[in-house]
Amino acid sequence: MFSLELSEDQVAFRDLARQFAENEMRPVAAHYDETGEFAWPVIRKAHELGLMNTHIPEAYGGLGLSTFNGILIAEEMAWGCSGIGTAMEANGLALAPVILGASPFLLNKYVAPMVDEPIMAAYGVTEPGAGSDVASLRTTAVKRGDKWILNGAKMWITNAGVADWFFVLAYTDKDAKHKGMTAFIVESKWDGVEVGKKEKNLGQRASDTRGITFTDVEVPDENVVGEVGGGWKLAMGAFDHTRPAVSAAAVGLARAAMEHAIQYALERKTFGKPIAAHQGISFMLADMAKDIEAARLLVWKAAWEIDQGRRNTMYASMGKAFAADVAHRVASDAVQILGGYGYNNEYPVEKLLRDSKIFQIYEGTSQIQRLIIARELLSGVR
Ligand SMILES: Cc1cc2nc3c(=O)[nH]c(=O)nc-3n(C[C@H](O)[C@H](O)[C@H](O)COP(=O)(O)OP(=O)(O)OC[C@H]3O[C@@H](n4cnc5c(N)ncnc54)[C@H](O)[C@@H]3O)c2cc1C
Repeated sequence: MFSLELSEDQVAFRDLARQFAENEMRPVAAHYDETGEFAWPVIRKAHELGLMNTHIPEAYGGLGLSTFNGILIAEEMAWGCSGIGTAMEANGLALAPVILGASPFLLNKYVAPMVDEPIMAAYGVTEPGAGSDVASLRTTAVKRGDKWILNGAKMWITNAGVADWFFVLAYTDKDAKHKGMTAFIVESKWDGVEVGKKEKNLGQRASDTRGITFTDVEVPDENVVGEVGGGWKLAMGAFDHTRPAVSAAAVGLARAAMEHAIQYALERKTFGKPIAAHQGISFMLADMAKDIEAARLLVWKAAWEIDQGRRNTMYASMGKAFAADVAHRVASDAVQILGGYGYNNEYPVEKLLRDSKIFQIYEGTSQIQRLIIARELLSGVR
């Protein structure tokens, strides 16, 4: 049997998310973009409605949503405001490796409370000198008694300024390379943890991005996530679950840009007719629609594969690279269709263009996605 039909429950969930995006996010998106404040009121309401942390297992009080059901929400959140959506989704990124590998003790202590409270978390892997090349990270943790002493610096960490805890990847045995990396849960209030200033980014300014430094931070042994030496596998394995959500967000942003462009193209007249009636414009709209549809189908496939219990790494990267490029292209064409007005912040498309760029960078750049696709393709793994 093959079907692309959503179930009644899925439609209801998506519609709830869509309504929330329309009523609670869209009206404030420009405000948070301009001020760079963290959108706590929106986050709290989204949490209340069950639109955040949706993958927390039922055993820990959560909804235990599948990856597929999660991406239905992610698309709508980004359609509302991808900056606020990223703040929500970054919780999902911090949670993913913890849900994959943490002990029941850690799940009870750090994950279960996130069902009742809008607690934020962050995924701390990137460093000032190590982004795509994760193996070159320099943060270390050294065992002393029943504690680990953590030293190092992380960079570009989404939610760092508002998170109660961080998922942190560090070397515990540099000589063992990938197998010498261990993951920890580190609380933001512990001695030796210093969170930097909020970065001023090109787009998604509602999202809080900062550096973090760790100086002789004492991490209890029970805060190791999974096995000592198993951090790399968890940190990278998380992307199979989260890249479909990021990609769905790119689709949501592209959809928003296309809708604005269509509306404007029907209203704006040049040479005696709406610009939508000029083929040069209508073909741009047609390309937007076809690319968005293709991106969504690819992203759905990536999510569906992992929900079937199959390796989806290649599809997750295909979806991420494709949807990110679509989002950036569609947002840029939307600005083009609005002409001078598109370049101005009186209309929402300039924000969408700025916001769209990050999809080609975070959670693995578009070059890294292509590297992964080629690796999977050439090794015959699907
Ligand atoms: C707003 C924002 C939020 C972020 N949030 C988080 C977060 O929450 N947690 C986290 O851990 N990180 C986060 N990141 C970090 C992000 O994942 C990295 O920026 C990204 O992985 C790229 O790393 P880099 O910036 O060091 O670039 P580099 O790795 O230095 O890459 C520079 C350029 O070289 C290219 N390149 C590198 N290697 C190759 C190669 N082998 N072949 C071809 N091209 C290559 C890249 O594609 C890129 O174009 C965030 C970044 C930003 C900007």
